[in-house]
Amino acid sequence: MKIPEKILFFIIDGISDRPVYGKTPLQDAKTPNLDELASRGILGIMDTIAPGIRPGSDTAHLALLGYNPYDIYTGRGPFEAAGVGIDVKAGDVAFRCNFATLDDGKVMDRRAGRIRETKELARSIMEDVKLNCEFIFKESTGHRAALVLRGRGLSADVSSNDPKKENEPIKEINPVKSEAKKTAKILNDFVKQANDILNKHPTNVERIELKKPPANTILLRGAGMVPDIETFEKKYGLKAAVIAAAGLVIGIGKMCGITHIGVDGVTGGVDSNVGIKINKAIEALNDYDFVLVNIKGGDEAGHDGDFEKKRDFVSKIDESFSDILDLKDTMIVVTADHSTPVSVKDHSADPVPIMIIGDGIRRDDIRAYDEISAAKGGLNRLMGKDLMPILMDLINRTKKFGA
Ligand code: ZN
Ligand code: ZN
Repeated sequence: MKIPEKILFFIIDGISDRPVYGKTPLQDAKTPNLDELASRGILGIMDTIAPGIRPGSDTAHLALLGYNPYDIYTGRGPFEAAGVGIDVKAGDVAFRCNFATLDDGKVMDRRAGRIRETKELARSIMEDVKLNCEFIFKESTGHRAALVLRGRGLSADVSSNDPKKENEPIKEINPVKSEAKKTAKILNDFVKQANDILNKHPTNVERIELKKPPANTILLRGAGMVPDIETFEKKYGLKAAVIAAAGLVIGIGKMCGITHIGVDGVTGGVDSNVGIKINKAIEALNDYDFVLVNIKGGDEAGHDGDFEKKRDFVSKIDESFSDILDLKDTMIVVTADHSTPVSVKDHSADPVPIMIIGDGIRRDDIRAYDEISAAKGGLNRLMGKDLMPILMDLINRTKKFGA
C-alpha cells in the first residue's frame, strides 16, 4: 500500500442541518456516491471553531486550514478585499462596501437597485478622491465593492455608516477607540468626496433618467485590519490551490497564499456547475499537493429556509462525486464549514459531518454521509483546528514529537 501524498478537500458550504420531519436534507437526498465514499472511509463530526460557537464562513474556513481565527480575524473586510483582487498588505484597513442610493441624507436603497455595472463609478472614485492616506477602491459583483486604506496610524476600530435599514439617515463614521480618530476622519472624507463624484457621474444621470435608483453613496462595513499570516505553503510545505465561486473564500485563500483556480460556469448558487469544479480539482492535483473546493449552493438554500432546494442540491452534487471514486494516491476529505439549518435560516453551532477517504485509513462501519450516521464514526468529535494536523499525519508529513 502506498501512503497518499495529496489532499483533495471538499467544503460543502453550510450543507449540514437539523432534522425536519425526522430527516436532515443530507439524510433525505439521494447520495449513492457520497455513501460509497462513506463506506470506504472514516467519519466523525466536527465543531469547526468550538462547541457552541456559530461560525461564519470566513472564520470556519480559516480554522479548517489550521489558522486561529481568534488571532487573525478582525473583520470581513480584508478577506472581501483580497477576494476582489486587491493586493492587501499586513496593516491595511479594509472594508466591504455597498453602492447605495442616498436621498436627502437618507439611505433609500442599500443596494442601489441591485446595480450591475459599477466599474466606471469605481474608476472615477479611484481617480478623483484625494485622501490623507493611500487607498484602493475596487468594484466587486453587483452592488458590492471593497475599500482598502494604507498608511501609518490607521485603525479598524471604527463604526459603520450603514443604517442597516432603508429610509434611515446615513450614519457618521465614528472612532470606537480614541486611536481610530484619524481613520474615522479619513473615512467620512472618503464618503463625502465619493458622494459628490457619484452624484454627477454620467452612469447615475442615466439611471435617474431611466427611473432607476442612482448608486450615489458608499456604505462601508466589516472593518478589519489585514493580518500578518504565514502562508499555507510555509506552514505545511504543501503547494495549495482553491476552487470557489465565493469572493470571501477566494480572498481567504489569497491571504494564506493559496492560488485561486478560476472555473467557468460556477455561480455560488444552487445552479452552479459542480461537475466542472470537481474535474478542475482532479486536474489541479497534478500541479498541487492540496486542493480545496468550496461548493456553495446549500448554504443559500439553508438561508432561504428551503428544505427541498437544499435536499435537491445535495442529490445534484452527489452525481458529480462519481468522478472521484477512482481517484488514486489522494486523501479525500468531505465536510462543511458550518451548519445552515433550514429551520434557523442562518448558521448554527451544530457540528458538521466529516469523512476522510484514502489508502491506509482506519475504515469504520458507517455507510452514509450525513449528520446522524457520521456521529457514530471512528473520528468521533473533532475541532476544526485539529483537522490539518490529522491530515498531515495521514499523508506522512508530520514530525515525531519526542524520541
Ligand atoms: Zn459557509
Ligand atoms: Zn451562510
